[in-house]
Amino acid sequence: MHETVAALRTIREQWGELLLAIETPPADVWPPRQLAHTMRAVDDEQLVVEERAPLVLREHPAPLNLAVLDAGLAVERLVFSLADTLAAAVQHEARTGAPRDPRRWEFADPGAVDIRRAHGSRAHGLHYACVWVEGRVLDEDTEAEAQLDGAPAAPPFAPLPPHLLHEARRTARIAEGRLLRTLGLDQRTMLVPDRPCPWCGGELTLHTDPDEAPRVTCSTGEDCTAPVPLDGRGRRMWGWVDLVGLVGALAAAEAEPLSATA
Ligand SMILES: [Zn+2]
Repeated sequence: MHETVAALRTIREQWGELLLAIETPPADVWPPRQLAHTMRAVDDEQLVVEERAPLVLREHPAPLNLAVLDAGLAVERLVFSLADTLAAAVQHEARTGAPRDPRRWEFADPGAVDIRRAHGSRAHGLHYACVWVEGRVLDEDTEAEAQLDGAPAAPPFAPLPPHLLHEARRTARIAEGRLLRTLGLDQRTMLVPDRPCPWCGGELTLHTDPDEAPRVTCSTGEDCTAPVPLDGRGRRMWGWVDLVGLVGALAAAEAEPLSATA
């Protein structure tokens, strides 16, 4: 259950990055995407993810990064159909004449003319769907509720049976993995191409991990004069706080390639 909730939260947290990445040409290894926030000029690019229409309902006339768009569409489909599956199993029928309960998941009705009905709750986007699935995984709103007239009302949902908890975990992990891989935030080690260490000319390696801040190491070892500490294997290492300095030093070396070799 905790794993599912954590995966759904990662998807929500990284969704804005994915939306930005669709409109950005395919990224190089450097700079690491985790630094994008720091290096983006202004926050006019900040996205309010909660307000974004789902990708499946939008036109994409000229995405700059098709692979990311494809991954985004796949993640949406996974989470939306998971919500459909859970709703079909544990969402109680709405009482006739009862006002619409905003907690309910509305199924898409492709034949409907009304756009809201045609897409149901999918129209609220991926963020909403993740929060809704999380509510089911945590068995929220499964207790009878007191009514104004005193008679307890049936809750909107039944608790999830174990096989659906398992299904939710499996699907959330697949969607999370796809998203992190697409953004280059999964656990990996990559040589930083064409950018030698500005202090010693050694090879730089970027290490990423979804649960940790990215770091960069220099292949030279302690003889490298970079003003950063050594890691457990005796390599100069730029941790999160030092990375911005490395970005600056690399940019300066690139602007004045001669001084780097002098
Ligand atoms: Zn070095």
